[in-house]
Amino acid sequence: MQQVKHVDVVIAGGGMTGAMLAYALLSQTARPLTVAIVEKQVAASTPGASGPLQTAPSQSFDSRSIALSAASVDLLHSWGLWSELQAHACAIKHIAVSDRGHFGKARLNAAEYLRQSLGQVIEIEKLGSLIYQRLSQFSTEQLLWLRPDHIQHIHPTQDVQQLTLASGQQLHCKLLALCEGGDSPTRTLAGIDCQIETYPHSALIANIGLVDDHQHRAYERFTQHGPLALLPLTRQRYSLVWSLLPEEAQRLQALPPAEFLAELQQAFGYRAGVFDAVGERVVYPLSLKTAKEVSRHRLVLCGNSLHNLHPIAGQGFNLALRDLAALVQLVRHSSDVGSYPLTRQYAQLRQQDMQQVVMLTDGLVRLFANDSKLCALGRNIGLSLLHNLTPLKTLFAEQTMGLAPFRRQQQALSQQFPPKEQEL
Ligand SMILES: Cc1cc2nc3c(=O)[nH]c(=O)nc-3n(C[C@H](O)[C@H](O)[C@H](O)COP(=O)(O)OP(=O)(O)OC[C@H]3O[C@@H](n4cnc5c(N)ncnc54)[C@H](O)[C@@H]3O)c2cc1C
Repeated sequence: MQQVKHVDVVIAGGGMTGAMLAYALLSQTARPLTVAIVEKQVAASTPGASGPLQTAPSQSFDSRSIALSAASVDLLHSWGLWSELQAHACAIKHIAVSDRGHFGKARLNAAEYLRQSLGQVIEIEKLGSLIYQRLSQFSTEQLLWLRPDHIQHIHPTQDVQQLTLASGQQLHCKLLALCEGGDSPTRTLAGIDCQIETYPHSALIANIGLVDDHQHRAYERFTQHGPLALLPLTRQRYSLVWSLLPEEAQRLQALPPAEFLAELQQAFGYRAGVFDAVGERVVYPLSLKTAKEVSRHRLVLCGNSLHNLHPIAGQGFNLALRDLAALVQLVRHSSDVGSYPLTRQYAQLRQQDMQQVVMLTDGLVRLFANDSKLCALGRNIGLSLLHNLTPLKTLFAEQTMGLAPFRRQQQALSQQFPPKEQEL
């Protein structure tokens, strides 16, 4: 029988959300916390071993690129990560949204909002390498990796969560944070239901080479095959996210590169220039999954375990970062890191933001998946209004840059923890 290990926080899942949470808790709370990460995948560099990681351990950090909103970039900057990531990121200075073959268009320019950029695009493996390198600097007393392993049994008590892992290891913690992605098995173990909607689409992603300079332009274009996003990447490349019927995604994935590029060019047009190369193509099935509870006593859900979204609007990880920002601030001001007031406040802070982003993303998916003439007319009028009505455009820009939701969260937190109290 193994000895019970006691830690402050157990993070289930060491992917993008879980690893970032561990880093933020250990570096940003100004308190001597002990954290354990339970990750089901073996680390690539040290198969089967427990200990600090040098390389990304999970499919969470795959070959994708993600768009980070301006507010997320500000947060990563304040957490001391951005200066090292900047060299790998490409600024989005302009966004163009259009509906191929129709009149509706909307444009956003960073300069109109006195910003250098509306957001940044980065390959997530770069983010992963930095986070794991930073995590490797904490001692094993501060951060314990348990992998490959997973939680097999949970027994919540008033003072701690008692966990038993598949390896037989027992852990007692004040707070359990579920960061296991959209299919979180521990969420099921805890009896937390999930609302699931499977979309009839898959996302085909790839990096695309360009003949000309992309000039930091991002495109969201609605084509007859489905919505297609091109995000500007470093080294004159675009990151493509193309939402397609599954059989179409598979057909396009299997095409020889030249034929694929010809079909992409045909679907998108020449607005973004001439495409001349394509990297590895990967297909992801798409669904919307939202947990019916955000938290319980000594338990919180973060990232995809709480909200697994369609990538159409590039909001998933941005939303996850706001989960983490809220949790880290609450932990900073609480003497018991898993207390009921803390977990309840976390739910209150995250509920509204999550519902709004889910509604926005799901609404976009439905609006642009509908081929009827009436729907096409409605969405094109909507795009024109968005472009021409300043208050609506400002609202859209603030949401895209993530500024409004971060500001609301910060305001709620500073009402709860006025600056005077923060200084105590
Ligand atoms: C095609 C695509 C494009 C996207 N583009 C954007 C974008 O532009 N901007 C944006 O903000 N977001 C984007 N996203 C969303 C973003 O990728 C997700 O928000 C992010 O991956 C969530 O990370 P996570 O750690 O919560 O979940 P995951 O990435 O699923 O990681 C879960 C981790 O938990 C581990 N795990 C699972 N089960 C267990 C278990 N039982 N025990 C222990 N460990 C377990 C897994 O091995 C993994 O390491 C995109 C998503 C897709 C699919």
